[in-house]
Amino acid sequence: MAVLWPPAACPSCRFQYALTKGGCLLFSCSQCRYQFCSGCNNPYHKTVCKAAQCICPGLHAHHPRDCLFYLRDWEPPRLQALLQRSGVDFNTDPSDGSQSEACCVMEQKDDKVESPCGLRTQPGQAGLCEKHYKEYLVSLINAHSLDPAPLYEASEVIRACERYLVDTQRGGDEDEDVFLARLLKKLMEVPLGEKVPRNK
Ligand SMILES: [Zn+2]
Ligand SMILES: [Zn+2]
Ligand SMILES: [Zn+2]
Ligand SMILES: [Zn+2]
Ligand SMILES: [Zn+2]
Repeated sequence: MAVLWPPAACPSCRFQYALTKGGCLLFSCSQCRYQFCSGCNNPYHKTVCKAAQCICPGLHAHHPRDCLFYLRDWEPPRLQALLQRSGVDFNTDPSDGSQSEACCVMEQKDDKVESPCGLRTQPGQAGLCEKHYKEYLVSLINAHSLDPAPLYEASEVIRACERYLVDTQRGGDEDEDVFLARLLKKLMEVPLGEKVPRNK
């Protein structure tokens, strides 16, 4: 295997898992049944929750901006750019030098049996499929507590501010660049996810 996956622990009972997150971030602890997001360890709620102004009627969690839930939508070059601007190294080649056809990261499938991912690997992605390569890059971003906000486009800054209930009112005579810089500064004052796994 090209990269080591940090062990994950249930935030409720601390039971340890050595599995990747795979496609679904909603994780149910096999020991205590606690349902949480494996990207940020925040709880999943079945109905509207106690979070300020929650309007989510169904199953949901509130994810911080550095949760894999949001960062998995980024393409690998953008995740790499975030690591590069902070001088964090990442793998692009398989550690043993041989590129295999199928991704061999072990995953827990629905029937709770571990089996290899099996998706096609991509060149330059450390011998992993794209999904697991993104997960690997995000684990480095989280380990180094990197804030994705400086790479946000204007629409992303505004959406993130809305999620965090940061006031997005633009001053009447405020220049767009000044407005966005002001929002970005306020957004970055909101801490990253407090429970995001940061194993090095
Ligand atoms: Zn548990
Ligand atoms: Zn899911
Ligand atoms: Zn999350
Ligand atoms: Zn909620
Ligand atoms: Zn894979």
